[in-house]
Formats: sequence, structure tokens, C-alpha cells
Amino acid sequence: MTEQNLSRQDRYAALADDLATRRAQHLLRERRVVAGPQGITLVIGGKSYLNFCSNDYLGHANHPLVREAFQRGIDQYGVGSGAAHLVNGHSAAHHALEEELAEFSGRPRALLFSTGYMANLGVISALCGRGDSVFEDRLNHASLLDGALLAGARLQRYQHASAGDLNNKLSASHARTRMVVSDGVFSMDGDSAPIADLARVSERQNAWLMIDDAHGFGVLGNNGRGSLEDQSITIEQVPILMATLGKGLGTFGAFVAGEAVLIETLIQRARSYIYTTAMPSAVAEATRASLRLTQSEAWRRDALRERIQQFRLGAEQLGLPLMPSASPIQPLLIGTSEAAMDLSQALEAEGFLISAIRPPTVPEGTARLRITLSAEHQEQQVEQLLDALVRVLRSHSVVGVGQ
Ligand SMILES: *Cc1c(COP(=O)(O)O)cnc(C)c1O
Repeated sequence: MTEQNLSRQDRYAALADDLATRRAQHLLRERRVVAGPQGITLVIGGKSYLNFCSNDYLGHANHPLVREAFQRGIDQYGVGSGAAHLVNGHSAAHHALEEELAEFSGRPRALLFSTGYMANLGVISALCGRGDSVFEDRLNHASLLDGALLAGARLQRYQHASAGDLNNKLSASHARTRMVVSDGVFSMDGDSAPIADLARVSERQNAWLMIDDAHGFGVLGNNGRGSLEDQSITIEQVPILMATLGKGLGTFGAFVAGEAVLIETLIQRARSYIYTTAMPSAVAEATRASLRLTQSEAWRRDALRERIQQFRLGAEQLGLPLMPSASPIQPLLIGTSEAAMDLSQALEAEGFLISAIRPPTVPEGTARLRITLSAEHQEQQVEQLLDALVRVLRSHSVVGVGQ
């Protein structure tokens, strides 16, 4: 033992200090314990709340047909998948879902991952390594940044949604393999990446382009195919599409879709695919049902669009600090973590669940209330939300207009 080593007592004391600092800075994260299924009303601690913070944008998480498929899946496959996909955990349900996701996304093949986080780690580290460069939007999801770090590649972050800055950074790079990675819909801002511009720059600069459409898939585009459909983007423009299944689709997991040679490479190389137990087959069956609903219940996307328009129009008239977003993610920019926390708590006291998003999830000074809308929200519930927001923001002196 040297003098630098901390004793057991000191190690715990250091952890406790760090927690106390986080609390003092309004950065401590706490969980809510939810009773019952996801939905527009949630029960927490015996009290009922209107839910405006879920990513279950279409209301599939507790849809009767998705539940039924899940239950049938258990009857057919049991609960556990028993092993990794490459051992004997890859079932007919997983395989069928992959084929359906490939077809739905208009790509030759798709590969299921257990979570979106793991898909992003797996893809980036399978295609890039030491000596390579990964170019990422400054506001990309943490899992995409972690993917580049895990790969051991050089991570370069370009200005938000700026194909020009990306082009400059690519021009200055001599790495052999270069990969451009962007959220399709930015998870904490709700705005969309300029995918055609990113594609043009990536193509000219001989770089891979990967779009993570966690928040667009199922939700955007006339058929719910996501940001790429919404922006009329082809597979040649975006060779690597990743999307998650736990948000718009309401179940769990993620997939990557692209050319067969890409998918086969991921099966051979993506460590977060190879060295993990396959998701339960019943989850895949539930997701297949959810994917069918995405096509058969297009009215859910229409209802969602109407709520988004209603919210934006109302918020604008009330002078709320809206951000430029056409997606179900409608953040209100607040500023300090303390103010965002206070507002979130005041709204909770009024029966509204809205999360305060703070650094390091978003840049310093841009803490916000992240409001998310769902196809299942009623017009009157969005009205109630707007009323509560203006009341609470005024009483905290965040809004002084529209009076
Ligand atoms: C949620 C999210 C992920 C992670 O997906 P999980 O399936 O929840 O692990 C990845 N990327 C983006 C942009 C996300 O919003």
C-alpha cells in the first residue's frame, strides 16, 4: 500500500462527496417508481399523473395487440432465449423480425441488437478502429459518442446540423476509414439532421454515413419509416441505418439495416452483438405486432401530428420558450439546472410528469423541460398542459409575455 491509495473508508467518503456535490448543483438524478403500464396517465406513489415524458410516441407499449403477441410469444418460446444469437439463441421470431425490418426499411438485410446503446457501440467499433476517424454532430446521443471512444478511433465533433463544418473537418482528415454519424431526430432537441446535406458531403469525401433514427422510426414519414422516408433519402445516401424499437415501436431492442455485406460484417465483428444473450423471442413477437400496427394504424401518426401542431401553436401564442422542432419532442429551453428542476417539480405537484434535462446530457446553460407528445394524448390534455405550463413558468418568472 502506498500513500496515494485510499482506504476503504476514504473510497466511500469520496463517493459520498461526489453525490453531495451533484445534489448541491441540482444534478442528482433520481428515479420514479411507476406502478402499472405505460400510458397517458401514470400512477406513482398512489397518485395519478398526466405523462408528458415518455418515448412511447404511438401508444404501442401497452397496445392490446402488442400485449397479445407478447403473451403468444411466451407460449411458443418461453421467456429466456438461453444464449447469444451465434450460439443457439437466434429463434424463428428473431429471424422473421429481421426480415420484416429489412423489408420495411427498404434494405437488403437487418440485424437485431438487444438495445440501441449496444447497436451503436457495436456498429462503430466494428467499422472503425485506431487510426480511423469518427465525425459526430455535437448533439449526438451519448451511445454514439461512446461507440467512437470504444472503437479507439479519433472522435471529432462538428457543429450541430452543419454539413459545412463537417466538410471542413473531413477535408482536413487523412484517416483511412472515416465515418459520419448523426441522430436523425435529436433526442434532447427534437429537430432533424439535414440528412441529404450530410450524405452529399460524406459521399464526396468517401466516408461512411450512419443515421441513428431512434426518435424518427415509426413516427416520421407517411408510412412511419422514419427520418429517411420523411426526407426522401435512399440507401445509397445513407448506407447505415440504425433505429431503436423501445421508443416509437413501444417494445424493446434495436436494429441496423443495410447491404448484406455490411450486416454480415457486423455479425462477425460487433462485440456487443456477439457477446450477449439474445433478447427474449417474445419481445421479437411483440415487436412484429407493433411493426404491423405501424402500417395498419396510420391514424396514430396523424393524431400525433395534430397534437404537435396544437402544442406548438398554443405555446407560441403564450410566449413559451419553444425550440425549433417538428417532432414529438418539444423541449422548452430554461437555462439553469436549478430552474429546470424547480419547474419540473412544480409541474409534478400539479399532476404533470415532465422531465428536466440537465448537463451533461445537454450543454451547460441549456437545461430544459423535455415535453414529449403521444398519439394517445387528447386535445384537452394538451390544453391542460399548456395552462399548467404558463402558470408555472410565470410564477417562476420564466415567461412574462402574453398576459
Ligand atoms: C434512446 C436512444 C438510444 C439508445 O437506445 P436504447 O434501445 O434505449 O438503448 C440510442 N440513440 C438515440 C438517439 C436514442 O435516443
